[in-house]
Amino acid sequence: MAEPKRIEKARQLLKEYYAGQRMESPNGGFLILLGIRPQEGGTAVGVFECSASSLRYEIVIPKATRTERKKVRDALQQGRDPDCPRHGSEFRLVRAEKNLVCSHCGVAYARV
Ligand SMILES: [Zn+2]
Repeated sequence: MAEPKRIEKARQLLKEYYAGQRMESPNGGFLILLGIRPQEGGTAVGVFECSASSLRYEIVIPKATRTERKKVRDALQQGRDPDCPRHGSEFRLVRAEKNLVCSHCGVAYARV
């Protein structure tokens, strides 16, 4: 299987991804999520397949910002279960080793 091609400048696609909207593929069709690979340092890589060409693409999902980490920390301090700051309240963060991670974006938002 060929290596996925990295999509640079994926800001708009990421916005659609977090919102659960259909993401248009660079060569027609749309992108189907194959998997999320959490990376060292808190970023993640989403791997997608184009519905039209079956080519594979990857998009780097940026690590948590200071504001996002603070939001999660505040929720923890108030005794609430924090949600993913990008995906919204339907998406609870889950524990993965020493981190609180969103399973849909693969990003670590806090240490536990
Ligand atoms: Zn998320």
